[in-house]
Amino acid sequence: MSFETLGLGPNLLRAIKESGYETPTPIQASSIPLILEGRDLTGIAQTGTGKTAAFTLPMLEKLDDRAKKSGRTGTRALVLSPTRELVVQIGENVSTYSKYVQLRVAQVYGGVGEGPQKQALRRGDELVIATPGRLMDLMDQGCVDFSGLEYLVLDEADRMMDMGFMPQLRQLQEIIPNKRQNMLFSATFPPRVERLA
Ligand code: AMP
Repeated sequence: MSFETLGLGPNLLRAIKESGYETPTPIQASSIPLILEGRDLTGIAQTGTGKTAAFTLPMLEKLDDRAKKSGRTGTRALVLSPTRELVVQIGENVSTYSKYVQLRVAQVYGGVGEGPQKQALRRGDELVIATPGRLMDLMDQGCVDFSGLEYLVLDEADRMMDMGFMPQLRQLQEIIPNKRQNMLFSATFPPRVERLA
């Protein structure tokens, strides 16, 4: 199995090669083709299995492809993750893989000033990586337009639920389009995560 057979385009393949990755991990080999096909996906994977690339690579491919075709602007993809550290980590992965993709990426999390995050959201950065708490604060202040959202990723869904973020996830669901592609990743799969999926 190689990255070339998974359906990713040359811009992503070049960045992957430069990262030194030779073969996809099992979660990448099974998720990437399904996400590229436009399927909803629930992935059970721990940190360390390569799950971040499993959702970021195909999503970046789609954002790259569709941007070329439609020239659309506005936020098109949202990744929710439970902590600031994870948001930053996902952001680092995205910046490595998107080296040859034209894309504006915003990171939104608490504990820092809101100004630049508000600006990024108002500008409609294509990809937003956020913790639910800060995102909802900014949503309540009217800084968010997710009417054109096409992709939603819930990363570490079990942890987000443990941390009490379910009300925020429900609130979010009310303002995003029903027609979208959903990806949910969780280290465990108890009944409450199954219901969420
Ligand atoms: P994650 O599970 O997403 O936190 O990834 C764990 C680590 O594995 C990160 O440092 C990634 O850069 C690295 N990684 C992800 N996919 C691959 C791959 N296919 N080959 C080698 N390293 C990888």
